[in-house]
Amino acid sequence: MSIFSGLEQIVSKNYSLARHTWYGLGGPADYFIRPDNTDQLVEVTKRCGESNIPIYVLGAGSNLLIADKGIRGAVVKLEAEAFTAVNYDGETITAGAGAELNKIVLNCTQKGLSGLEALTGIPGTVGGAVRMNSGGRFGDIGAVVESVTLMDNQANMFERSKPDLIFDYRTSNILAKFILGAKLQLSGADPEQILRTVQEIWIYKKNNQPLSTKNSGCIFKNPPGPNGAGALIDRAGLKGLAVGGAKVSEKHANFIVAAKGCTAKDVLRVIDIVKEKVKEKFDVELELEIEIWK
Ligand SMILES: Cc1cc2nc3c(=O)[nH]c(=O)nc-3n(C[C@H](O)[C@H](O)[C@H](O)COP(=O)(O)OP(=O)(O)OC[C@H]3O[C@@H](n4cnc5c(N)ncnc54)[C@H](O)[C@@H]3O)c2cc1C
Repeated sequence: MSIFSGLEQIVSKNYSLARHTWYGLGGPADYFIRPDNTDQLVEVTKRCGESNIPIYVLGAGSNLLIADKGIRGAVVKLEAEAFTAVNYDGETITAGAGAELNKIVLNCTQKGLSGLEALTGIPGTVGGAVRMNSGGRFGDIGAVVESVTLMDNQANMFERSKPDLIFDYRTSNILAKFILGAKLQLSGADPEQILRTVQEIWIYKKNNQPLSTKNSGCIFKNPPGPNGAGALIDRAGLKGLAVGGAKVSEKHANFIVAAKGCTAKDVLRVIDIVKEKVKEKFDVELELEIEIWK
């Protein structure tokens, strides 16, 4: 009997992941699994556990670089309606992990709900944003997360709430394999003021980031100290550095953009060179902000 017998309609074998990442890069997963509901997710998790198949949880793939050889394991994407529903109840939002964050930011603007403006222009899902504590100079999502619904590797479901949740710079203390959803606590505010803030942040991003390219956002975390990763890379003279189809963006040195024909190997090589040169010049070890699956 096959590992996923009875679940064939949600399991694709040897499935290319490239179209599920913002980079448009990455080889095939042994299994690409899109459960329709929690029961199926539980079953998939148990079967993977019994067969020692590692599980990778994919959001919108906007903070990921996946190796050209792909993934030996199961990649699970929570994109079915059961995982993407969003409920607005006064100033509280309950969102499935697969819900698109940008849409929620937009709805909040219209509904006069303040707290998510800082997430303007950040692609991805609620699950990915909570896992990474996404945000930036304007704030981050952790500030409004009230509680999360989680599921571990053994398919046990449970909740974690404030103050047990700790969010830090691009990280959180949520270690469970799956984030299934999050409750966000916002506050009422003038929709016009929220819109102005959202527009200002959007214009800032458009002016400072290579948004029309294939990329994965900032590659490195900002190191402690006055200089951000982008400034250090720029001052090391690395803007425009290219290997194959991968290039350090001329617009924002902490972005590596992928041109047609680019491979994950090209991006990895540029990452290595940038790390090496910044270490050599400033004695700073750059730490990755993106996640690499290889
Ligand atoms: C143009 C551009 C601009 C960006 N700007 C910013 C920015 O300003 N600030 C910022 O913080 N980020 C930024 N990013 C990075 C990225 O958008 C965020 O990190 C985003 O929140 C990732 O969400 P995702 O759904 O795409 O996650 P993915 O990239 O799919 O996954 C990221 C991580 O989260 C995990 N994950 C995803 N979903 C779940 C889940 N349901 N349960 C458990 N784990 C899960 C994955 O396993 C992986 O470890 C940018 C990216 C791009 C392309």
